[in-house]
Amino acid sequence: MGEQAMLPCFKCGRVMRNVCPGWDENQPDEGTEFRTYGHYGSTFWDDFNGEELVLNVCDPCLREHAARLAQQKRFLPIRCAGMVGFGRQWVDRPMVSYSGHLDRSEAQVEVEELGTEIPGVEWVSDIGERKADLGS
Ligand SMILES: [Zn+2]
Repeated sequence: MGEQAMLPCFKCGRVMRNVCPGWDENQPDEGTEFRTYGHYGSTFWDDFNGEELVLNVCDPCLREHAARLAQQKRFLPIRCAGMVGFGRQWVDRPMVSYSGHLDRSEAQVEVEELGTEIPGVEWVSDIGERKADLGS
């Protein structure tokens, strides 16, 4: 284990390298891992006890079938003092057809707002330390 991603491509069966050889995690190079607890309606997988179904799809298969994909912006990264990595603001945007263009919108806050109660905002666990590092 470690040299190859733990799973081949679900679509074509291609074996992918692991991005970092030696990792004991499924991290396919030129591929993406997908995870789900399943869905109501599935007769194949719909778990309520914390077990995920996992599959890898290689990048060529995603590109080849891009018309079958959708994308959905789920949160805005929070930018402060020119940096990101402070947390996320959850948004409720619709799923749209895959365009290949990422929505780069962000939430902007001032240093004094870091760690404060803002609707829909989830701060990183060390936000107090991060705020202190910025001198506030
Ligand atoms: Zn493939």
